Amino acid sequence: MKTLKLDAVDNYDFAVKTASEILKNGGIVAVPTETVYGLAASAYSDDAIKAVFTAKGRPQDNPLIVHISSLDMLRDIARDIPDVAYECAKAFWPGPFTMVLPKGEKIAKSVSGGLETVAVRFPSEKTICDIISTSGIPLAAPSANTSGRPSPTTAEHVIDDLKGKIDAVVMGKDCTVGVESTVVSLVGEKPRLLRPGAVTVEQLRKVLPELVIDDAVLEQLKDGETAASPGMKYKHYAPKTDAFLVEGCSNSFVNFVNSKDGCAAICFSEEYYSINVPKICYGSKRDESSLAQKVFSVLRDIDSFDVKEVYIHAPSKDGVGLAVYNRLIRACGFKVIRL
Ligand code: AMP
Ligand code: MG
Repeated sequence: MKTLKLDAVDNYDFAVKTASEILKNGGIVAVPTETVYGLAASAYSDDAIKAVFTAKGRPQDNPLIVHISSLDMLRDIARDIPDVAYECAKAFWPGPFTMVLPKGEKIAKSVSGGLETVAVRFPSEKTICDIISTSGIPLAAPSANTSGRPSPTTAEHVIDDLKGKIDAVVMGKDCTVGVESTVVSLVGEKPRLLRPGAVTVEQLRKVLPELVIDDAVLEQLKDGETAASPGMKYKHYAPKTDAFLVEGCSNSFVNFVNSKDGCAAICFSEEYYSINVPKICYGSKRDESSLAQKVFSVLRDIDSFDVKEVYIHAPSKDGVGLAVYNRLIRACGFKVIRL
């Protein structure tokens, strides 16, 4: 299949119109959002959704998030919507926040991987919102990477993974947030954080004081345990190089990596010049948002270093740091070294 490249920087209107046409005709198109690039398909078309799963190599039981561009669309996607969902929408939409609600009837079965619930998000990125409004259809869109690989935060990442497997890529700017949305389930007894993102636990608790943090946010599921969020049980975000997450202060991290042969490091800007092995910096340890913005691209870049192992300095779990930590511990297959 030829993958069309649609230039959304210099030819925005044409890119939006063409992408909308392809989606209305049942095609699949990668689109920039503020979090990561998404691989979009009509949430009403079972065939288009199946094509998304095939292009990504995504397990069928890992459900997709449906994207909307107005609050009115929510009523087509979900049913029995509780008041608290509207309070969350007021506080966090448009933006990097997804809520899980009882599923509406029109949504294609394959979107939810067999569940009775649906995840919904109203993004803030103009490009995806314009495509949803122009096509008039809600778009189911997982991250536009090959399943298991780091999520794509640039159009080039999408091309590297999916060229020849999808109808088009809307080539926009790099994503500003850099990690996927915060996912909260509103269907259980208490609201439950399933995946941390740029909307932080502190912000959520102002609207959802009873919020419970699911164990799978920071821990590996035990054998036989059912995942509240099916995506949490899969290996994710992994570079090809064997990766380890390292917890400790800057001094200990620098001494540790400098004592190792044949490895590379993913470090903070503050320690960059003290490290003697091949290294990439992913931002300042004091600025979790900068770490979020770069984390997936450094996980991709590390594979161009010819090393067997990479040691990644763990961020704090405060604020957006929790989302970065959550992605990194999965990228490392839960291999953590505590110095
Ligand atoms: P991605 O599409 O890669 O951003 O991943 C979407 C995430 O949302 C995965 O971790 C899914 O498990 C989660 N998700 C989507 N729909 C649901 C749902 N109905 N219930 C629980 N988790 C969901
Ligand atoms: Mg993903």
